[in-house]
Amino acid sequence: MQRAKVNQSINLKDYNDIWVIGEQREGKIHPVTIELIGEAKKLASEIGKKVIVVVAGYEIEEEVKKLLNYGVDKVLYIKSPLLKTFSTDGYAISISNLILERKPEIVLVGATSIGRDIGPRIAAKIGTGLVADCTKLDIDPTDGKILQTRPAFGGNLMATIICPINRPQMATVRPGVMQKAQHIDNPTGVVEEITPNLTEADIIAKVIEIVKSGKKRVNLIDAKIIVSGGRGVKGPEGFELIKALADALGGEVGSSRACVDAGWIDSMHQVGQTGTTVRPEIYFACGISGAIQHLAGMSESKYIVAINTDSTAPIFKVCDFGIVGDLKEVIPAMIEGIEKGKAFEI
Ligand SMILES: Cc1cc2nc3c(=O)[nH]c(=O)nc-3n(C[C@H](O)[C@H](O)[C@H](O)COP(=O)(O)OP(=O)(O)OC[C@H]3O[C@@H](n4cnc5c(N)ncnc54)[C@H](O)[C@@H]3O)c2cc1C
Repeated sequence: MQRAKVNQSINLKDYNDIWVIGEQREGKIHPVTIELIGEAKKLASEIGKKVIVVVAGYEIEEEVKKLLNYGVDKVLYIKSPLLKTFSTDGYAISISNLILERKPEIVLVGATSIGRDIGPRIAAKIGTGLVADCTKLDIDPTDGKILQTRPAFGGNLMATIICPINRPQMATVRPGVMQKAQHIDNPTGVVEEITPNLTEADIIAKVIEIVKSGKKRVNLIDAKIIVSGGRGVKGPEGFELIKALADALGGEVGSSRACVDAGWIDSMHQVGQTGTTVRPEIYFACGISGAIQHLAGMSESKYIVAINTDSTAPIFKVCDFGIVGDLKEVIPAMIEGIEKGKAFEI
C-alpha cells in the first residue's frame, strides 16, 4: 500500500482562519451553511480565529450579504457567470485556488450531494486530507488542532481523526448535525468579491438541462415531529399506519434502513448513519430495534417515544417514553386520542 504524501514544505504558522464553504442552490443559501457557521464560531472562540464563509455563484449579492447576519467576519463571494449553475470543475477549481492563495487553517464543507462532490476534489487539488461525514468537531486543548470524530467500522465505533502535518484541516459535516448560528441584527463583517481565474474550457462537464425529480421531497431535517417505521411494520402497507399518525400530528414519515432495503419505502425517508440526521422536537420510533446506525441519526431528538413488542429492544435505553406493545394496536389508540384532543380544543 502506498503511503499518502506529506507536504514537507508547509509552515503551519502560515495558515489562519476557519472557512466554511457555503452552499447555494438556485441562489438560495442551503441551511447546512448556517449550521457550519455555528460550528465554526464555536471552534473559533476556542482558538481565537476569524470565521470566513466562501460562496461561489453569480447574481446572488443579496443572499450573500444575509450571511453576515450570522456573525461571520467576512464572506468571500467568488462571482462569475461561469458559476451561476453548479459545476464540479468550476466550483472545485475556483475554491481550491482561493484556498491556496489565502491559506485557511480549517475548512468545513457540508456533506450534501454538492459538498461530497467538491470536498474530496478540493482536498486533492490542494494536497491535504479530508475527514468525511464528521458528527463532532473539537479543539485539542494541547495544540489547537481539530479533533474530527466520525463513525467507523459500520458505525460500531467512533473514530477521532487528526490532520497533524498538512493544512488546511478539512472536514465534511452532515446536514442537521450541528446547531445553527444565531441570527444577529447589527453585523460587522464584510463581503469581498473575488473574480476567479476560470475559463469555460476549465469546466469539462457541461450542464445541458436540469430535470427536477417529480417526487414530493420529504423534509426530515426541519421537521419538528417525525414518526418513523421499522421492520416491525411488517411490510409497505404498515407505513399507512405510520403515515396516519404522522398526519394526525402534522409530522413527517421516517424509516429505518431495513425498510428502505426491503423496498417498503423510498430512501429519502431513511434516518440514520447512511440516511438523514434529524433532531426534531419529538421522534416516534415504531417497530425499530434501535441499532447503533439508526441511533446515530436521531439520538439528538428532544424527546424520543418508542413503541416495540420487545421490552429488551435497545431503543428503550435511549427513549424518553417507551410503550411495550404491538404498533398495530398502539398507533390507532394514539390517533384516536389525538383526534379526541383536537375535538376538545375546538
Ligand atoms: C454501514 C451501515 C450503515 C447503516 N445505516 C443505517 C441507517 O442509516 N439507518 C438505519 O436505520 N439502519 C442502518 N443500518 C442498519 C442497522 O444496522 C439495522 O439493521 C437497522 O436499523 C434495523 O432496522 P429495524 O430496527 O427497522 O429492524 P430490526 O432490527 O429488525 O427491528 C425491528 C423491531 O421491530 C419490533 N417489532 C416487531 N413487530 C412489532 C410490532 N408488531 N409492533 C412493535 N414492534 C415490533 C421488534 O421487536 C424489533 O425490535 C446500517 C447498517 C450498516 C452496517
